[in-house]
Amino acid sequence: MRQKLVAGNWKMNGSRASIKALLDGIKQGIATVESAEVAVCPPYVYLADVEAQLQGTPVVWGAQNLSTEASGAFTGEIASSMLQDFHCKYVIVGHSERRSLYGEDDAMVASKFAVARAAGLKPILCVGESLDEREGGVTEAVVARQLDAVIALEGVAALADGVIAYEPVWAIGTGKTASPEQAQEVHQFIRQRIAEQDAAVAEKVQILYGGSMNAANAAELLTQADIDGGLIGGASLKSEDFLTICRAAG
Ligand code: PEP
Repeated sequence: MRQKLVAGNWKMNGSRASIKALLDGIKQGIATVESAEVAVCPPYVYLADVEAQLQGTPVVWGAQNLSTEASGAFTGEIASSMLQDFHCKYVIVGHSERRSLYGEDDAMVASKFAVARAAGLKPILCVGESLDEREGGVTEAVVARQLDAVIALEGVAALADGVIAYEPVWAIGTGKTASPEQAQEVHQFIRQRIAEQDAAVAEKVQILYGGSMNAANAAELLTQADIDGGLIGGASLKSEDFLTICRAAG
């Protein structure tokens, strides 16, 4: 049985004050979440605050991105060792906003996955198709290409050290959620593709859904056989909504 994981991607939102209030709310309600693991991914500059506020609670934290480089003249970048310094458990790699707005290609995302893994961080590898790609009937080809870039670099067994998040780009921040059937179909495809190379890894790896998951639609998505949790953007910024999703995960 795979444990469910619900991770909040706060993106570039919040302030010291609002994050304190959000974490207070999450901490107050976390005992109502039975078995799912709960994680939050704040902007880098708040990692120290988040670490201080979450220490000793069951909630874990991570970052939204990392550099492929270890240190040096890379202005504005954050290295894996710095994330280790703040005891991050997770780091998101290849979010569609990084791919589309900052030009991260499959090779760069794969090397970010590798760097995170080498540092003992759990990469949350985001994959997913655009609306044009879905309408063009190439969803599976796109997701397979994104996945295969990591497998080619790190080997299929490496996937068990991370988490996969299927995030159809057309569903992110748009209020348009994939139907439970649409999501399950792609999750099943991902698991099958991994199983063709390593059945044990396929059985073990958590595959999260992301894309306008909210308090109202979470339960139906999270009961699909191959959906092992959620990567939550907008709805992770309100403690009650986020906790409702976490409870729906188990
Ligand atoms: C995301 O950015 O990972 C995401 C799923 O966002 P939202 O929940 O707001 O669609």
